[in-house]
Amino acid sequence: MQSAHKIGSLLFCPQCGTLLSAPTDDGPTVECEQCHHLEPTSSYENIEIVTHSHPDAFPSALRQKRKTQTKVHQGKVLPKVSEKCPACGYMEAYYEEKQMRSADEGSTILYTCVSCKHGWRVNN
Ligand SMILES: [Zn+2]
Ligand SMILES: [Zn+2]
Repeated sequence: MQSAHKIGSLLFCPQCGTLLSAPTDDGPTVECEQCHHLEPTSSYENIEIVTHSHPDAFPSALRQKRKTQTKVHQGKVLPKVSEKCPACGYMEAYYEEKQMRSADEGSTILYTCVSCKHGWRVNN
């Protein structure tokens, strides 16, 4: 019995040259889709999988170039208003006004409790 042709990590049918699919756990053979030649999966076991890793492919300077990101603190300082928090009863909340898409809807006031960070909104 002819054994399959090996090219790299691929096996080709010795009868018709079709690329054989990788072996599954279904059985001891791999069937050629073209000519139904049965190739024992043991043929796959001796395949040396050559990995073409070139560590020099990437210049070390490029690899070491890391983006040094300075963290910019974007903490927006919101105005505080005296509004009672519905969650904890604290009398101060951050105030933010959001304009709604249509004029009919008006705007929405977003409050965030200074004390417990509970957020709620009030429609104008
Ligand atoms: Zn075949
Ligand atoms: Zn609160």
